[in-house]
Amino acid sequence: MKPVTELIHHSYKAPTDFAAPQIAIHKASTVIFPNVQAMRERTWLDKKGYTYGLHGTPTTFTLEERICYLEGAQHAVLVPSGLAAIALVNMALLKHGDEILLPDNVYGPHKTFAEGELKQWGITYQLYDPRDLADLSSRITPQTRLIWLEAAGSVTLEFPDVVEMVRLARSKGVLTALDNTWGAGLAFAPFDLEPSKSTIPLGVDISVHALTKFPSGGGDVLMGSVTTCDDHLAKQLKLSHMRMGLGVGANDAELVLRSLPSMELRYKQQDTTARALAAWCLQQSAFAQVLHPAVVSSPGHPHWRRLCAGDQPSQGPVHSEGLAAALLGLRLDPAISQAQLDTFCDALRLFKLGFSWGGPMSLVVPYHLRDLRLMSKEALLQGGFVRLSVGLEAAEDLIDDVAQALAQAEI
Ligand SMILES: *Cc1c(COP(=O)(O)O)cnc(C)c1O
Repeated sequence: MKPVTELIHHSYKAPTDFAAPQIAIHKASTVIFPNVQAMRERTWLDKKGYTYGLHGTPTTFTLEERICYLEGAQHAVLVPSGLAAIALVNMALLKHGDEILLPDNVYGPHKTFAEGELKQWGITYQLYDPRDLADLSSRITPQTRLIWLEAAGSVTLEFPDVVEMVRLARSKGVLTALDNTWGAGLAFAPFDLEPSKSTIPLGVDISVHALTKFPSGGGDVLMGSVTTCDDHLAKQLKLSHMRMGLGVGANDAELVLRSLPSMELRYKQQDTTARALAAWCLQQSAFAQVLHPAVVSSPGHPHWRRLCAGDQPSQGPVHSEGLAAALLGLRLDPAISQAQLDTFCDALRLFKLGFSWGGPMSLVVPYHLRDLRLMSKEALLQGGFVRLSVGLEAAEDLIDDVAQALAQAEI
């Protein structure tokens, strides 16, 4: 054989008993079959073998199984972003004439997707007030196919009564899907919301997760997952996933696999720092409201406490038990001008201006709540608003940073 051929077909095979802590990165579009029979018999619908890179490699199968374990699910698919996970659920389950219900504080681009593509395909949506079970109940009609939940809600972090909302949806025969990015599979178990109470678990039907956030933990990967315990839903999701070609890159999957073992430690550390910062912010007159589910005065705090902190009573203004993602909404005193708010954000040195969260670096984003919320009480809309995402820096340094930025903005 000529060198050019030999360099493709060289017969050396490395020993197969290699073992190391980290999972190998298997890269493939093409997968080689040993014979025709195997090629005809293998199906991408199960994980007994490999068919094509898009449908799974040892690297992506391993990540899927670990995400299943994390969320307490039976089936998982990986997609290129958290937003793609949301889109996949909607596209797999909905048809012309169906309606979905979205919380008013749903992840912003999800509303945009509903207003754009879903509407275009004859699928309608209604917003519901995430703080009001009766409001959700009143919006369910025979067309309601799916109720989306988010706990806590994006930006304003109200914590809904997830348990009763799921119970309500079950009683009406409506599917539930949870955007579980905030809880990350750590703060509560989406498929078993009342672990000690029921023999048949009360849980959501589907959980989506932006692995971009805590599972990646580096601010350097975009990925999403969709998980379920239901075999039939899993098949629908896998079929749509396959038909739309929503695979993920092996290098990205490997980065998430590498970060997963440290996720709980990071989540807890960032949580502790965020609560220390929340306690400090509560004492500053600049902030009219500090939104964080563990802050006793934050909307939905009792629901968070029941689901994520064993319903232990709160001592002091910030609850010390349970788990919460390291996000903080700060509503500024209405006397503070927009220019001062902008100066405050620009003056922060450790908190960088940028979207996303869950990485090592703390971030800040100013929001215009009036553009984001249709159902919020007036009070929430008074004054400027910033969201802080707390990273892995020391709490004292972050508090000092906020203090110096307030001073620079003459707040
Ligand atoms: C970031 C985020 C998403 C989207 O994730 P991407 O990977 O950035 O597309 C979805 N839902 C929530 C709650 C998020 O915070």
